[in-house]
Amino acid sequence: PMNLVIEGLSKTYPNGTQALKGVSLEIPTGMFGLLGPNGAGKSSLMRTIATLQDADAGSIHLGDIDVLNEKPKVRQVLGYLPQEFGVYPRMTAYQMLDHFAQLKGIKNAKERKATVRALLEQTNLYRERNIKLGNYSGGMKQRFGIAQALLGQPKLIIVDEPTAGLDPAERNRFHNLLSEIGEHMVVILSTHIVEDVTNLCRHMAIIHKGEVLLKGNPREVVEAA
Ligand code: ADP
Ligand code: ADP
Repeated sequence: PMNLVIEGLSKTYPNGTQALKGVSLEIPTGMFGLLGPNGAGKSSLMRTIATLQDADAGSIHLGDIDVLNEKPKVRQVLGYLPQEFGVYPRMTAYQMLDHFAQLKGIKNAKERKATVRALLEQTNLYRERNIKLGNYSGGMKQRFGIAQALLGQPKLIIVDEPTAGLDPAERNRFHNLLSEIGEHMVVILSTHIVEDVTNLCRHMAIIHKGEVLLKGNPREVVEAA
């Protein structure tokens, strides 16, 4: 298991918006909740960890990987599920995962079949494996995103505002899946929903206007807030 250590991270966009102002956090294995209102800086922080944008100052370490300076290494161990998760609408879940498994270099057909099947089962999509992704519901797409991320055997999974627009049953299903994954790796859940963090996460931080206001275990943090 790897810890994620963020120190003094700052980011100002070209238009002058200071999105991150010296963010420091230690994120251990397990589910970590990053809670904050719209515009707090959550996506900026997630995108920086995911090597999709640079910071102006500070550092991020995932285990012994220097995230800001070793992007290819990070990408090998990272699963990132952005808010607007795009899928190829005309491919089925099975076809898509099989395709990614081929790209990943799993050449042996039997091995690929077993890998894809295990991921579909883990994400509760096996029954829907032959449905085109364009016909998937929001929740099914999210779970498919997790299956795709897990195919890369990540050490860190980032999920940005995952349950927006999901019905309660789907949210529950998605939450259970995340909890299960959180037993084996760092899972960062970025959200503005307090209950999601208190119900699911072992550790959390509240971010507001680019700064960490509070951090700790959810019960302590919510009492202090
Ligand atoms: P959150 O994910 O918590 O909603 P963001 O990281 O998206 O917060 O945004 C933090 C602040 O940075 C907001 O004021 C937002 O408008 C601004 N921001 C985000 N992305 C950009 C960008 N590419 N260019 C300029 N400002 C941005
Ligand atoms: P959200 O507020 O929903 O988290 P994001 O911060 O992810 O949205 O922004 C969505 C897209 O719009 C990103 O590509 C981001 O860079 C851009 N963006 C967000 N806020 C601004 C802004 N104030 N000015 C310019 N681009 C922005």
